[in-house]
Amino acid sequence: MTETLFEIAFRHVFGRAPEGAWAAPGRVNLIGEHTDYNDGYVMPFALPHTTRAAVARRDDGILRLHSAAMDDGVVELRLDELAPGATPGWARYPAAVLWTLREAGHPVGGADIHYDSTVPVGGGLSSSAALQVATALALTELHEVDLPRQELALLCQRAENDYVGAPVGVMDQTASACCTQGHALHLDVRALAQRQVPFDLAAEGLRLLVVDTRVKHAHADGAYGRLRAGCEEAAALLGLPALRDLPHDGLDAALAALPDDRLRRLTRHVVTENRRVQDVIALLDAGRTPEIGPLLTAGHASLRDDFRVSCPELDLVVDAALATGALGARMTGGGFGGSAIVLVTESAADAVTTAIAAALPQARQFPTTPGAGARRLR
Ligand code: ADP
Ligand code: MG
Repeated sequence: MTETLFEIAFRHVFGRAPEGAWAAPGRVNLIGEHTDYNDGYVMPFALPHTTRAAVARRDDGILRLHSAAMDDGVVELRLDELAPGATPGWARYPAAVLWTLREAGHPVGGADIHYDSTVPVGGGLSSSAALQVATALALTELHEVDLPRQELALLCQRAENDYVGAPVGVMDQTASACCTQGHALHLDVRALAQRQVPFDLAAEGLRLLVVDTRVKHAHADGAYGRLRAGCEEAAALLGLPALRDLPHDGLDAALAALPDDRLRRLTRHVVTENRRVQDVIALLDAGRTPEIGPLLTAGHASLRDDFRVSCPELDLVVDAALATGALGARMTGGGFGGSAIVLVTESAADAVTTAIAAALPQARQFPTTPGAGARRLR
């Protein structure tokens, strides 16, 4: 087989040929934001953009990592020195995956890994999950560890929680591992039940734009933990295992029972957002795709006003899109910067793109369709 440029890049870095190459995509979340760590519903789909890993095993207990996206050369780590919090920089993500696989008892050893990526890094499109899932799929397949995709995603989440130290939910990793081309993935996070929901934009004369604002506000990481803790506190005060357990028709009574405005706002977002996921699915199943637009916009208002995780740049993009005739628009991902999505008819797409560019010149925009989940390339 002829070597691909990607395999040649591996050879250039490590002086030998890789044993294989894998790819895992970034994602956007169509609807269901900040619901995953409340045991609720999410609905992401995979981007065509992927992070690729070319890998060859080593038998000397050493992990060597190289990324075309970084300028720090080859990072070399000893497996017996891997420990939560011990690895600096980007290498902590793949190191976390290897450590977590080994902690779970899987017979996975050292490796040389070269990465490249078309997922914007730090843009709220889950480059971190793509990096982890590509690594996990490569190492498990090379070592013949048979892990179902959802298990693999949970393992990557554990890696990010326990080793990287970020208290994230399981949506991003599940999207990267489990999505399929042409579908959005409905995931019930508590049951870990999945359904692939057909989401064919072109057949309906629609376009979905991703708009990366290219800002990430500095307080994002600490805020995430506080939001999560606030949701848990509200659920505990209501005597519920998680906010997922509060039905939509019990919302008013629950809000009246909560002692402060912040907990009321968090609760209202999670409960209404879970409902919006169900409503979007019902519309998609009924072939009424354009009608999901107002639900996306309502989701944005809830994230902006109740959950308070939007930011001026995301609001600018959403407002510019809606003012130019978009069917719906919302921030996607954790918030405080990152990306927005815009649902638009093909005939209005150019005008909307122009209006967004005028409102936020730094934004990077691209139309997208649901891509495939993680896979072996070679
Ligand atoms: P997002 O997941 O939204 O892109 P995060 O802050 O969660 O943003 O993850 C970005 C981090 O993941 C980067 O700072 C880097 O440490 C790591 N990362 C992502 N993609 C790559 C890559 N291709 N090569 C090296 N590190 C990467
Ligand atoms: Mg991330």
